[in-house]
Amino acid sequence: MYKVRLWSIKRARMMEVLYAFLEKSLVACAPVFERIGYDRLERPVAAVEKTVKGVLFDCQMCGQCALSKTGMSCPMNCPKSIRNGPCGGVRIDGYCEVKPEMRCVWVEAWTGSQRMKNGGDMSIVQVAIDHRLIGSSSWLREVRRIRAEESAAKNPTDTASNISSS
Ligand code: SF4
Repeated sequence: MYKVRLWSIKRARMMEVLYAFLEKSLVACAPVFERIGYDRLERPVAAVEKTVKGVLFDCQMCGQCALSKTGMSCPMNCPKSIRNGPCGGVRIDGYCEVKPEMRCVWVEAWTGSQRMKNGGDMSIVQVAIDHRLIGSSSWLREVRRIRAEESAAKNPTDTASNISSS
């Protein structure tokens, strides 16, 4: 699906808007998710995520999605799986040194990020991948993160006491 991947990067701004909408919708559904239980939802949601992102981005389900900070170019398609690229081997024409038939995912990331709001946050350094999360849903993880932040903002004393007791 290489051509579709390039198509998505060319439309990085549109993808960013769609993603923001998806995120809002998923967060709005969070109370339902919490009732059902995230563990129960993990497999079906991960399957949907894998299908949708597989088609659009050649997603490898790393479980820690960085698309919004990599110009909608999935870093896991880099043959070296570099999360903060590019490496020093990019060819002068912008192609990959390992797969000469493929444009460097980081050259594509830069192009895509220039189409996004705030330059796609390309300056943010990505942390090393946690292999325990491979195959899991980034969407659900993001919903839980946002919900935890919202809850911490509403109850700052709880958060402070949790931190001091841990
Ligand atoms: S960064 Fe990870 S979750 Fe996001 S598209 Fe790439 S492999 Fe999939």
